[in-house]
Amino acid sequence: MPQTQVGQRSSLYRTAPVDSAGPDYVNAVVEVITGLCAPDLLEQLQKIEQAAGRLRPYRNAPRTLDLDILLFGAARIESSALTVPHPRMGQRAFVLHPLAEIAPGFVPADLLLDVSDQVTGRLEC
Ligand code: ATP
Ligand code: MG
Ligand code: MG
Repeated sequence: MPQTQVGQRSSLYRTAPVDSAGPDYVNAVVEVITGLCAPDLLEQLQKIEQAAGRLRPYRNAPRTLDLDILLFGAARIESSALTVPHPRMGQRAFVLHPLAEIAPGFVPADLLLDVSDQVTGRLEC
């Protein structure tokens, strides 16, 4: 990806599909340091998804790869193509657990409590 470096990366977490079916997913969160603007970053992420065979036959369909922007610095973005912070990240243990590993300051304890009924398994790697 142009103008972009990977910074911190979380462990991998195995999680049963949420709002979907099929086999377990592997989830992780990475920090990237980028000179791209947020829409261009999304475009680049979608190219990687496509290269991994991502199809979108219907909402929440099983997928080979899903690359979402959780946060973009302190930006708040509301456009037709992009909402940041990611509007559903606070309800998803598979996001909060890896995010807490690399950026605990972004994951308040009360949010973690709210998802404590959701199971994620940290994979050794
Ligand atoms: P969810 O958003 O609930 O995680 P999803 O990741 O499966 O669902 P996708 O099919 O990958 O949804 O993306 C649908 C559209 O969401 C994308 O085409 C993109 O324009 C839009 N979108 C809005 N905000 C974001 C974001 N923060 N990160 C990635 N895509 C986003
Ligand atoms: Mg998603
Ligand atoms: Mg997505």
